[in-house]
Amino acid sequence: MTHAELRNQFPILNQQVDGHALCYLDTAATSQKPLVVTEAMRQFYLQTNANVHRAAHRLSTEATEQYESVRSQLMHWLNASRLEEIIFTHGTTEAINMVAHGLTEHINPNDLILVDGSAHHANIVPWQQLAKRTGATVTAIPLTTDCRLDRDAFRQLLAEKPVLVALSHVSNALGIVNPVVELTAEAKAAGALTLIDGAQAVAHLNVDVQSIDCDFYVFSGHKMYGPTGVGVLYGKYHQLDRLQPMLTGGEMIKTVSFSRTTFGQLPNRLEAGTPAIAEVIGLGAAVRFMQSLITLDIFAHEATLLQYLQQQLQALDDIHLYGAHPDNVGVVAFNLADEHHQDVGILLDQQHVAIRCGHHCAMPLMASLDIPGCCRASIGVYTTKQDIDRFIEALHSVKELLE
Ligand code: PMP
Repeated sequence: MTHAELRNQFPILNQQVDGHALCYLDTAATSQKPLVVTEAMRQFYLQTNANVHRAAHRLSTEATEQYESVRSQLMHWLNASRLEEIIFTHGTTEAINMVAHGLTEHINPNDLILVDGSAHHANIVPWQQLAKRTGATVTAIPLTTDCRLDRDAFRQLLAEKPVLVALSHVSNALGIVNPVVELTAEAKAAGALTLIDGAQAVAHLNVDVQSIDCDFYVFSGHKMYGPTGVGVLYGKYHQLDRLQPMLTGGEMIKTVSFSRTTFGQLPNRLEAGTPAIAEVIGLGAAVRFMQSLITLDIFAHEATLLQYLQQQLQALDDIHLYGAHPDNVGVVAFNLADEHHQDVGILLDQQHVAIRCGHHCAMPLMASLDIPGCCRASIGVYTTKQDIDRFIEALHSVKELLE
């Protein structure tokens, strides 16, 4: 596959908006979907649609086989050690909530939970709610002035023996990659459980959960070229098995009577109700899509583009970049001096350039940067150098307009 063929997998990028080509630099919010994903979901609805794990009929058997084969695909893709370690969720947010809810009875008053200071709200609020239920405390791991996790402060906090450490693999607002293998090892040596939010990582890095050695790893399908409404909670078998299910009902039980219900085994125990079957099948197609890009050396392509984007932005006058390091992935965060990020975003949109502006669901990070928000341009496998050039050109005219 050539890069042009890859891009043709995304018809949305070839459409004209008001007679202009669209320049999509908001992949971190959600990626566009390749034809192989939309086609897999369409074929499922046209040919196979039936509920899974239930009926004796042929369509249901086929739907179940397709659904379960995606679990197997994900097990291999993430290098998990058992099928039961892959739980389908509706996304990262739900997956983190499942862990935070599920651990309630294992957390005691005065227990300490550490959360990465650059975390997305989805990796903060569920821990605060858990702390409220249990009397535990949530403490942020501070960042250094260059926005990386402060390793010395982390070690000092680990000396307080936290029960759990929740980290981002990649910061959604800045694109900074946390050294999760080392951080997890340190947290583990201090006796803590570890959860890694991989929402911004899986589309840009090879993830091997056994080499990270975390207890939980979570992500959403829609940020890695898959559909919305589906995500993954990976957990080590014995850790998942300790979680109290957040949702109860059909599919997850062994026996039910009005006097007593017993729960089934993993993975069903954590997948109550009818799952997002077509979306899981779409996610399987997204994984195959990503695997098919290996020959294009796509992560190297993205790294070159991101560095080009950082350099082009840095060359502008009156611009502030946040946490821009050469080893970041996917994202660049910036503000034009004295201009409100929202104004910049709206004016760029008028030139058919799509970026995201705001606090990026990372209000504590914005507070530590002492800004209300910023602009974020983000790239994906389909992004081209022409996209970046158009964006920079549009930003020049935004600057002129605002001056
Ligand atoms: N964590 C990170 C790092 C994210 O970027 C996002 C999505 N912006 C989330 C969590 C939440 O993901 P979702 O909305 O798909 O549940």
